[in-house]
Amino acid sequence: MKLILANPRGFCAGVYMAIDVVDQMLDICPNETIYVYHEIVHNRHVVERFKRRGVKFIEDLSEAPDGSIVVFSAHGVSPALKAEADSRNLTTVDATCPLVIKVHNEAIRYARAGYQIFLVGHADHQEIIGTRGEAPDAIQVVECPEDIPNLEVKDPNKLVYLTQTTLSTDDANVIIAALKQAFPTLKEPPSEDICYATTNRQRAVRVLAPSADLTLVIGSRNSSNSVRLTEISQNVGTPARLIDDRSELDPSWFAGVNTVLVTAGASAPEDLVQELIVELIEKHGGEVEQHDVYHEQVEFGLPGTLKELMRARGIDPTGRRVMRKDADEAMGAWLDRHGIGHRTVDLTVGATH
Ligand code: SF4
Repeated sequence: MKLILANPRGFCAGVYMAIDVVDQMLDICPNETIYVYHEIVHNRHVVERFKRRGVKFIEDLSEAPDGSIVVFSAHGVSPALKAEADSRNLTTVDATCPLVIKVHNEAIRYARAGYQIFLVGHADHQEIIGTRGEAPDAIQVVECPEDIPNLEVKDPNKLVYLTQTTLSTDDANVIIAALKQAFPTLKEPPSEDICYATTNRQRAVRVLAPSADLTLVIGSRNSSNSVRLTEISQNVGTPARLIDDRSELDPSWFAGVNTVLVTAGASAPEDLVQELIVELIEKHGGEVEQHDVYHEQVEFGLPGTLKELMRARGIDPTGRRVMRKDADEAMGAWLDRHGIGHRTVDLTVGATH
């Protein structure tokens, strides 16, 4: 069986940063309980690994005692939640991805300028809850084209749309086209809200899935961008399965399958991909081909709130930075160590993000 490994896959810059924030907190506050509001990233393994190190995940701020330390997850929170934390005298560290903060800032700016905002995304997703909270009176969430007739419009010349960062570009384009048809004066966001990591992982699947009989996506079911990768594969005609790890593999999926595409959502750890490769090679034999569709170079620094906390505790944050690791390079060395044959196919088109 041929295994095609999609690149890019797995951790994005925002996830590296958010995980690193909790790692650093465990390092600099060894004797305090670290509370994390919501899953730090939407991945079961990441959350369980932190739980084993003593981190407490909460869905309501009342679960954190007054004066304790709370980390806000990569998905962002509303100003109301931040105000509640302040009123409770909580020490907060904000691990919101900078690309989510960008959408928050757009929402604030347009609402102040008197615009009504159509926020395209999933109403119950943590990111949309946080963004909507920036301007609840100005924002209406649009989940699908069927929502459009119910939108209330005060001034057709003051309308703008924004989007969740992890949408399927295919689905978003359909909704945005329907919005533009209904409201021809609708303004676009100043720059694309669907983030580079979502776009690149989806693009890799769109390019590679047609050559495969089955796509396996490592990721959790509550990970929006992971679910979207399965949909993109299905959109190009290749069945796809979303699995948290190799234990969820079902032998019946492989009947008549000669080529499998393996990818991972932006919050899925690379070691789970490695374990999956071993399992597939042991059971079905064959070689691994790493297909590079895009090389990513994006890195984010530590959040300002974490640096403040470090300084308050006498730690110089200068030398501490989030290290992005190249999944493909690491995988090549790992495959060599395990004696698994592999080659790299370069499909990049020159652009690097
Ligand atoms: S998927 Fe995009 S928006 Fe979400 S954490 Fe990663 S880089 Fe940030």
